[in-house]
Amino acid sequence: MGMIVKSITDLRTTRSTLTGSIGFVPTMGALHAGHEELIKRSTKECNRTIVSIFVNPTQFDSTSDLEKYPRTLERDLELLWKNNVTVAFIPDVTDLYPDSYTYRVSEEKISDILCGTTRPGHFSGMLTVVLKLLMLVNPTRAYFGEKDYQQLKLIEGMVEALFLPVHIIGCPTVREENGLALSSRNARLSPQGRELALFFARTLANFTLSVEEIREVLEKNSLRVDYIEERWGRRLGAVRVGSGVDEVRLIDNVKLP
Ligand code: AMP
Repeated sequence: MGMIVKSITDLRTTRSTLTGSIGFVPTMGALHAGHEELIKRSTKECNRTIVSIFVNPTQFDSTSDLEKYPRTLERDLELLWKNNVTVAFIPDVTDLYPDSYTYRVSEEKISDILCGTTRPGHFSGMLTVVLKLLMLVNPTRAYFGEKDYQQLKLIEGMVEALFLPVHIIGCPTVREENGLALSSRNARLSPQGRELALFFARTLANFTLSVEEIREVLEKNSLRVDYIEERWGRRLGAVRVGSGVDEVRLIDNVKLP
């Protein structure tokens, strides 16, 4: 079994005792086989693996999305120990934001497109917490999923722009056999929502359709489309299913043939 570390002081102390290469996998918990792939890659490539579990409030643009974000800590820890993770870092919001979020990372190009158009402030919150975590953990390599492709692009850009001494490793999206990309938010889908989510995944990967046609087909089937766009050699999309506090936003992307 690994070690649970909550305070920043304890993390610094523990980190200073670790030698060799350190892999880091930042997560918001509610872990699934997608997170597990990142963890497995890290434990294979690095001497020690640190996983953080932190539902970062500054990257949520909706209070109900933050409140309803699934939390399954006991099960998460079991998954970490099963995979030989050395440290589970589970910080408090106040510890991670001693400045109450007056200092933040802002990026002025990629942040404003795709998810940035409908989620103001999301990428600043994400970049800020990733920078803080990278500074604290000081890993050799940090692992991120291609599922959140725009996020991966922004993190790679930040590491390059700020000369951060870490290698960023992008990992392929893990899907259910039927094609649905695994996501912690899938747990919030109703049976009908799951059908729609699956329909979204399949339609996005249908290369006989243009982006305009995909939008049309999805909207006809009562999915609300934030965007369908092609860029970086990929086709990316975001949709919303359900309504009110039960609304679930889903993103996905596939490599263009
Ligand atoms: P999250 O807990 O949603 O913040 O995700 C933590 C990390 O896991 C991020 O780097 C995500 O891109 C990655 N991730 C989430 N879902 C998947 C998936 N289905 N396949 C691969 N990586 C994923």
